[in-house]
Amino acid sequence: MAGIYLHIPFCKQACFYCDFHFSVSLKNKEALLKSLETELILRKDYLQNSPIETIYFGGGTPSLLTADEILRLFEVVSKNYHLNTEIEFTLEANPDDLTAQKVKELSKTPINRFSIGIQSFFEDDLKFMNRVHTASEADSSVKRVQDAGFDNITIDLIYGIPKMSAEKWKANLHQSFDLKVPNLSCYALTVEEKTALHHFIKTNKYPTVSDELAYKHFQILVDQTAQHNFIQYELSNFGKEGYFSKHNISYWMGKSYLGIGPSAHSYNGYSRSWNIANNPKYIKSLTLNELPITTEILTKTNLFNEYLMTGLRTIFGVSVLVVENRFGLEFKNHLLKQVEKHQQLQHAEIKDHTIYITLKGRFLTDTILADLFFE
Ligand code: SF4
Repeated sequence: MAGIYLHIPFCKQACFYCDFHFSVSLKNKEALLKSLETELILRKDYLQNSPIETIYFGGGTPSLLTADEILRLFEVVSKNYHLNTEIEFTLEANPDDLTAQKVKELSKTPINRFSIGIQSFFEDDLKFMNRVHTASEADSSVKRVQDAGFDNITIDLIYGIPKMSAEKWKANLHQSFDLKVPNLSCYALTVEEKTALHHFIKTNKYPTVSDELAYKHFQILVDQTAQHNFIQYELSNFGKEGYFSKHNISYWMGKSYLGIGPSAHSYNGYSRSWNIANNPKYIKSLTLNELPITTEILTKTNLFNEYLMTGLRTIFGVSVLVVENRFGLEFKNHLLKQVEKHQQLQHAEIKDHTIYITLKGRFLTDTILADLFFE
């Protein structure tokens, strides 16, 4: 089983915090679509005919594509890959793109899951982050997608925004609960180098982002989602039973995936590769039928660390038996020795030969992981 990710590297405007690969100029859109088609064909053997369970259009802003353009890419996928009878097909969409007409057109495509970039239901937060949509579009876009018959919806929300009160964060969560969205992806605002946010903070135009505030909001998030019967199946993902992201779970379970488009990453169990993060260079290379890819063969240590990194962020945990079978006694002994301190601090626990991060340790997952990695 495997998944396909297509990166659509265009946005209407740059959000201040974003360090993803995208361009705000759409002038190369047609050439890029042709290049995506070429890459899909050139790399059709990468997944060795494994049945495709999930297709994910991410970005950038894939909802800038028309329904016909999405169908066109889907046709190339279905002609060249072995699709499972039931696939999860997700489209990342920005609220301002989801007009009634657009949603109507999208409902005629095989898309069956929407990931809507809400981030906040408050106008001032959206302005602070330079999001292109309004608070009213945030709310109405979800309703429009639901009215068109889609129930598998996830929304992104951002917490830890400077000066965001606990009440405001709760109000964001409660608006999501009221809208009956069955999956939430919630991330702390982070300041990445070379972003406008980084520059504004450095030049004192914006207040700093605080870890304490993010921690406070994270606790509210865990508490409120649990009260509304959401399961925290990954550090940042909260879903109702039956609505977990199959695509993301397959990443975390170490399944193979093919990433198409500029900056997209791929993984096949023993190597990781990534495409050039530059639209004109990507297009030029594909026009010559050449793949602009860098590949890294993963060592046993890389694979072990990756298994910890993905497993410990999820409710599935890390199996000590899998570690012993896949990586050997040296790795197993290292893991058990390193995890002891975190068990004593009640940040981690072992049940039925599986290591889990406890509720108390969850916000510290990255620190715990750094301790458990094999150098
Ligand atoms: S819409 Fe998404 S990809 Fe585009 S700039 Fe904003 S956060 Fe980044």
